[in-house]
Order: sequence, then C-alpha cells, then structure tokens
Amino acid sequence: MSATTVGPISLSIPNIAGNEWSYVKECLDTGWVSSVGSFVDRFERDLAARAGTQHAIATASGTAAIHTALMAAGVEKDDEVLMPSLTFIAPANAVRYIGAWPVFLDSDPVYWQLDPNKVEVFLRTECVQKAGATINRKSGRTIKAIMPVHVLGHPAPLKPILELAGRYGLVVIEDATESLGSTYEGRPTGSWGLIGCFSFNGNKIITTGGGGMIVTHDKALADRCRYLTTQAKDDPVEFVHGAIGYNYRMTNVQAAIGCAQLEQLDKFINRKKQIAECYAEAFGALRGWTLPQVAPWASSNWWLYTVRINEGRARSSSRAVMAQLQAQAIQCRPFWQPMHLSPAHLDCQAWNCGTAEALWRDCLSIPCSTNLDPDSQQRVIAEIQRCA
Ligand SMILES: *Cc1c(COP(=O)(O)O)cnc(C)c1O
Repeated sequence: MSATTVGPISLSIPNIAGNEWSYVKECLDTGWVSSVGSFVDRFERDLAARAGTQHAIATASGTAAIHTALMAAGVEKDDEVLMPSLTFIAPANAVRYIGAWPVFLDSDPVYWQLDPNKVEVFLRTECVQKAGATINRKSGRTIKAIMPVHVLGHPAPLKPILELAGRYGLVVIEDATESLGSTYEGRPTGSWGLIGCFSFNGNKIITTGGGGMIVTHDKALADRCRYLTTQAKDDPVEFVHGAIGYNYRMTNVQAAIGCAQLEQLDKFINRKKQIAECYAEAFGALRGWTLPQVAPWASSNWWLYTVRINEGRARSSSRAVMAQLQAQAIQCRPFWQPMHLSPAHLDCQAWNCGTAEALWRDCLSIPCSTNLDPDSQQRVIAEIQRCA
C-alpha cells in the first residue's frame, strides 16, 4: 500500500467494541436518558470498585470533577494550589474558577511527573508556617492543597507527595484523569489522596463521550460533592437550595457507554501496553530518542505513548518529526504548553520550571489508540524510521 491510498491514523480515539450499543438502547427504550438512572448508579459503583475507593460521584466532565473536588476540599478564593506546570490546562482552570491560584512547579526529567524534590525545596525555602498554615512568602497567600497530575497515565510519585502534604498541612487532590487503571505500589491512582478525579473525554482510555468522576474514601466529602454537582438541592421536592451549586451531573446515556467501556478497561490497557512494547522495540536504537520509562513504584495504563526527541542530539527535532508525520496523515501531538507560559495563566506564580520547558520542546505523542491495527502501527514505525 502506498501512503496516499491509506487513511489517516489518529492519535488516540474511542474504541466502541462492547456492550455500548445495547446499554444505550436500553436507555432509549426505557426513557431513562437524563441525569438519573440505573447506569449512573452502576457506573459509580463499578468505578469506585476499580479505583479502590468507597465512594464515586459521576460528573459532566473531568474538569467539573476537579472543580467540585477543590470546593469540597475547602479550597477558597485566594488560596493557592501547587501543581505541575506540565499538565493539560483543565486543573489550572478549575483552581481559577474558585478565585484561587495555582502555583506551577517543575517536573522530573525521567518520569515527567511533578518533582517531589522541587516541591520540598519550594515549601522549605519559599514558604513560612503561620498559625498552622503554610504561607507563600512571595504572595502572602495560604497554600491549601497540592494536585499531582498522573501525566500520560503514569503515576506521579505519590508517597513523597503525601509525606510533604502531611508535613505542611496540605490537602492532596489527585488529577487522575489520564490514569484510570494505573497503580502506585499496586494501589490504584485516585485512591491515595483525599479526593481523586477521572475523565471520560473522547481521547481518554475509556470514554463516555464526555464525563468525569470524583472518588474518595470520605463519606461526608462524597455527600458534599454530590450536593454541589446537583445544584445544592436541600429538598427533593420543594425548590430549596442551600448554596450556589452546579449542574455537573452525568447523564444515564453517558453512564451506559461508561459501563460498557469499563468492562473493556483491562483489554484496553493490555492493548496500550502491547503498542508501547512494539514502539519500544522499534525505536530503542534511534539516536537522541528517549523512550518513556516506568518507575519501579508504578504500573502505567500507557494512556499516551510519548517519546522525547532530544534537541541537539537527534537528527530531527520533535516538531520536524511531527510535520513529516502529519504530512502522511499520521496524527501526533506535542506536550501541552507549560502552564507558566500559557497566556491564560501568566498572572500566576511559577517556580523553576526549566524541565517542563525542555520536555515541551522535545516530547511528541504518537498514535496509540486501542483500536490501532498492527499494519497501521507498522506504517507509523516506517515513517518515523524514515525521518527521525
Ligand atoms: C482530560 C484531562 C482533564 C479534563 O477532563 P475533561 O473531561 O476533558 O474535562 C483534566 N486534567 C488532565 C490532566 C486531563 O488530561
């Protein structure tokens, strides 16, 4: 086959291969299409079991889950939340919805996760303790929480982060939106902090079209989250609302898709792992290429397969490789622009984010949909070997 006669290859797209049709049909046949229904209940139960938590609250999106989690955890206007600069923008935006402030910290150069050593130095040298609170000396604001993001599905170093959070009195909210099915020392991501958040957007490892989930071990927090996501309704019949709430619920149709997708999660993870192994074999010897590593503490769901093409050492830069592949209808994506450079968040503090900038310059995600067929993967490999 010539490259002109074969179709485009996407980065990471939905794989609708199980009971999605029959579960959605059940919603349509019964009329249970909106924000309550048996699939919502079941998806929450099944997801909580998978995430290893007592409680789960389905939401309209991962961003809504994070926004709600921050409010429920007590983050308020003018509080600060530590997070990696190298993340998709959603968690930073969610902090800003509250009028609170993200503080952007660096990633580690090996696993590309929030660097606990830099977090430690920041807390020790840039903050002071006052009346039991941790105050950022530069802004004078209280640092209330820390939000590790399990970037690309690989677990962040949770134990060092939890230890620091304990020492400095910070709440831990896990942005586990990319890491469903990943584990840290054998226990699922999302279950380590006070609250964890998942996303079921179209490009995630399982999808509901759009949707999210909040998970926690804490019953009172779970109740608070459910309250906030359902317009803070105090009475089931009378329209009495005790606070400013949100319409952040997932619909039964979305949850029906989610239940069917969750049944296939292990299959999807296995397929992602196979794709990663195949790429690792093909690219191991490419000059200047660093392939993704799995930490000894981690099992990754391999949500995205991302390589580092070290500028100056590799023959072509990440953006040159991307252009070559795009010209062959092979979809690739760089990392997100680091938050400390994002026009949306230029008014936020950032501290020593040099590694995040280098990773942004060098990294490239390549096609790894769970329904990527072996021939298409070979086409990606051949094109890369031609240009990299
Ligand atoms: C996808 C994603 C989100 C947001 O999820 P949505 O469902 O798209 O709102 C948040 N954080 C990270 C790191 C993500 O990748």
